Amino acid sequence: PASMTTLLAERARTQPDDEAVVELDADRLTFAQLWDRASRVAGGLRDAGLRPGDRAAITLPAGADWTVALWGCFLAGVIAVPVNTRFAAPEIEHVLQDSGAAFVFAPDHPLPQGDPWHTDSNLTDVAAIFYTSGTTGRPKGAMTTHEAFLSNCESTANRGSAQHPPVIGTAYRTLITVPLFHVTGCNSQLLAATYVGGTAVIMPTLDLARMAKALGDERISNLTTVPAIYAMLLGHESFADADVSTVQRCGYGGAPMPPALLRRIREAFPKAALGNGYGMTETAALATSLPDEDADAHPDSVGYPTAVVDYALYHPDPVTGIGELLMRGPNITVGYWNDPAKTEAAFVDGWLRSGDMARIDEDGRVYIVDRAKDMINRGGENVYCVEVENALAGAPGVAESAVVGVPNERLGEAVGAVLVPRPGTTIDPEAVTAYLATRIADFKVPQYIAIRHEPLPRNPGGKILKGGLRTGIDWGER
Ligand code: ATP
Ligand code: MG
Repeated sequence: PASMTTLLAERARTQPDDEAVVELDADRLTFAQLWDRASRVAGGLRDAGLRPGDRAAITLPAGADWTVALWGCFLAGVIAVPVNTRFAAPEIEHVLQDSGAAFVFAPDHPLPQGDPWHTDSNLTDVAAIFYTSGTTGRPKGAMTTHEAFLSNCESTANRGSAQHPPVIGTAYRTLITVPLFHVTGCNSQLLAATYVGGTAVIMPTLDLARMAKALGDERISNLTTVPAIYAMLLGHESFADADVSTVQRCGYGGAPMPPALLRRIREAFPKAALGNGYGMTETAALATSLPDEDADAHPDSVGYPTAVVDYALYHPDPVTGIGELLMRGPNITVGYWNDPAKTEAAFVDGWLRSGDMARIDEDGRVYIVDRAKDMINRGGENVYCVEVENALAGAPGVAESAVVGVPNERLGEAVGAVLVPRPGTTIDPEAVTAYLATRIADFKVPQYIAIRHEPLPRNPGGKILKGGLRTGIDWGER
């Protein structure tokens, strides 16, 4: 297709009566209906005075209306700005102001309506601005072109192998349990379903019993969600009665997959191909993918780059081989909206700097080690926080941990850990240190330990917000 508009036009012409979008227990739209509703919204945006290149923010809950609003923007040539619905008022205000949105799709307001209308856009036109999760700072608006959307759809559609060929057409029915305002839910599920002529089944709010039932009721063939939701689903009483016979693919990503959970997913979905996927808002979702054949043997790998992505390591360490992952390809953002300085800093010679430290094995598989910002330079030794946090997961009394760098006169930075005790227990820092001493090198063992009696601050995606943690901790001396 020449743009997202032509993609939907093609589906409406060739599969008018096939199901495009299902909002569980609410609307079900065929491709003809989706095209029809979206073109009336496009006419409504035009009547409201919006012109191609103007921005419209979507603050609706996930569902059929959200989808119609997005396609309405695409058809009008208006840049869609999906807004994180869990944001507080000042955060929403930042997104609205930063994007300069001239229109807001808001709950309890009917979608704009006008005479059916659409313009055709070019591949290089910006179609949406997705804000990053804000794990390492203020969310940045990644500009996403029609080409980036389409190339991500293609990469997603091509995942498969001889043993597990890609599912396409009406048999492709994906269950969306993650937010639509992030790229995984929107690009790799909602839009990828339309790309292959399949159905996107949207669950507006996570309900595990409903999710288990929907697998069979909706003949779901593709499940893509985060490890935490798999763990909750498999542990839920209603999962015992779930009909999983149609599930052919279980995708996961966004966070590391614990090997024990992976084994449980294998048993629970015997027919499904399993696959890790790595990406960022800036890569319009999928950048690397681990095939089913590798899932069990290399559970800590995020796999190989997709067909359109080139990758390299920036300044790899000669001993460990670890360097910052660089990526290049048609799915990569053309820059951050309204922020030339951050855009400039995010690229080197045309390559996107992922901000993730990685290594690549001799077969070409990528392993994400940690975020560059989370790496501690302790007197010249690199300490990866994730490694220390993984070790802390088994330490006596520890429910949650976050490892951060602590300014230190002699070493530059020292290792600090913020620990949250399990309910009803206390943490003895000496016991924790002794536990770690037999598991990780001595220079990685935290020199500073602070106990926190409330949960760690996390963003809506479940990622720990370390920026806020680093300030205001009384580390004491050890
Ligand atoms: P911000 O850029 O605002 O600080 P963020 O980087 O968390 O926030 P996203 O674009 O939503 O925003 O997340 C992308 C990041 O998520 C990647 O850079 C990587 O650190 C992590 N990630 C994504 N997929 C995986 C995966 N499969 N395994 C491990 N980490 C992953
Ligand atoms: Mg990021």
